[in-house]
Amino acid sequence: MRVLLIGSGGREHALAVGLAADPSVDFLAAAPGNPGIAQVASIFPVTATDPAAVAALAVELAADLVVVGPEAPLVAGVADAVRAKGIACFGPSAAAAQLEGSKAFAKEVMAAAGVPTARSHACTSADAVSRALDDLGAPYVVKNDGLAAGKGVVVTSSLDEARRHAAECGKVVIEEYLSGPEVSLFVVTDGTAAVPLMPAQDFKRLADGDEGPNTGGMGAYAPLSWAPSDLVPRVMRETVEPTLAEMRSRGIPFAGLLYVGLALTPDGPKVIEFNARFGDPETQVVLALLATPLAGLLQAAATGKLAEHPPLRWHDGAAVTVVVASKNYPSTPRTGDVITGAEVPGVIHAGTARRDDGSLISAGGRVLSVTATGPDLASARDAAYALVDSVRLDGAQYRTDIALGAVEGRITL
Ligand code: AMP
Repeated sequence: MRVLLIGSGGREHALAVGLAADPSVDFLAAAPGNPGIAQVASIFPVTATDPAAVAALAVELAADLVVVGPEAPLVAGVADAVRAKGIACFGPSAAAAQLEGSKAFAKEVMAAAGVPTARSHACTSADAVSRALDDLGAPYVVKNDGLAAGKGVVVTSSLDEARRHAAECGKVVIEEYLSGPEVSLFVVTDGTAAVPLMPAQDFKRLADGDEGPNTGGMGAYAPLSWAPSDLVPRVMRETVEPTLAEMRSRGIPFAGLLYVGLALTPDGPKVIEFNARFGDPETQVVLALLATPLAGLLQAAATGKLAEHPPLRWHDGAAVTVVVASKNYPSTPRTGDVITGAEVPGVIHAGTARRDDGSLISAGGRVLSVTATGPDLASARDAAYALVDSVRLDGAQYRTDIALGAVEGRITL
C-alpha cells in the first residue's frame, strides 16, 4: 500500500510511526510533515489546507490511501478532493467535518440524535449572550463557534470574563458546566460500522493541578483503570450510533475518526465536544498501545469495509505522553530555540524545524511530546519523565503531574 499522510503536528508524527510500522505499507509520504515525520516518511512541501494541491500530490504519488490528520484540511474539503480523484481517503467530507467545524452544528445534531450533552444556547448578539449566561449560571462555559485549535473555550466563574470572551469571538455557544473526569474516545468509522479505540485522558490546562489557560493538550495516558467497565459500550449506544445515524439521515455520513470528548458526570457520560480527527496528544498513547496494523484499519474505514475488519488487538500495559511546549505558550510562544536530545525513539515532533546547519529548533507552541510505555501506568509515567529530562529546550514548559492522579488512585467518579 502507498500511503500519503497530511499534516505536520505531533498527532501526525505518531500516525506516521504507526503507518510506517504496518507491514502492508511499502511507501509512506507526508505533506508538509516535520523533522520527526521525515525520519519515517518522504516529505513533500504541499500546503495541507489546499484541496487541489493535496489531491494532485496523491495522484502523482499513486497513493492508495490518504490519511488526513488535522481538522483544518478536512473542513477545507481535502478529503472530498482526494476522493473525487478515485483515491481512498481516511477523513470526513467537509460537510461532515462540521461536527467539529461548528459547535452550533454539533449541538444541533446531538439534540436531533438525542445524545446526552450539556444544555446550550448558540448566540450571536450581546443580548443573547447575557440571557444565556443568566439562564445557565456559573461556572460559565463560552465556546467560539468555529475552529480554534482547542483554545476557543473559556470556563470561568467571572461573568465579566465570560462576556469578554463572547464579545471577542462573535458567534459563540454557551453551555451548562459539566462536572466529572474527562475522557477522550476515538471511534474509527466508515459511516455505518464503528470501532472504538481505547479511551484515554488528556490534560487541557497548561499548568499542574489543572491551573492556567486551556491549551491544545499538555499530556495524556491510557488505559483508564478507574473508568466504569460499561463506558465504551454505553457511549457507543447512547452517542456514537445515534450520531452516525443522524448524519446518514442528513445525507452527510461521517466517515473517518469521530473523537468523542466526554465528561463522566454523576448523570452518566455526556459529550463535551466532537472532533472530526484524532486528538493530540491522546493519539500518541492510544497508538503506542494498538497492536493491530494501523494502515489496514484506516483503509478498511476509508473503503467502507470496516464491518469485515478483524477485532482490534492491544498491547498489555500502559502509555503516558508528556508535551513539551515553548516559553510563553499558549499566548505568544517563543520560537527559534535550539533543541537537543529529541532525535530518539519515543520523542514525537510537533513544532520543530531544521536549520540549514542541521540543528533542530523550536517552531511552534507545542514543540514535541515524549511517549513511553510500561507494564503499568506508574512505570510508563516514570519512563516518560525520564525521557523528558533527556530533552533540552530553553524555556521549556511541561506539566509534572500527567497521569499522577490515576497512579495515586485519586480520580473519583
Ligand atoms: P472543547 O474545545 O469543547 O473540548 O473544550 C475544551 C475544554 O474546556 C474541555 O476539555 C473541558 O475541559 C472544558 N469544557 C468544555 N466544555 C465544558 C463544559 N460544558 N463543562 C465543563 N468544562 C467544559
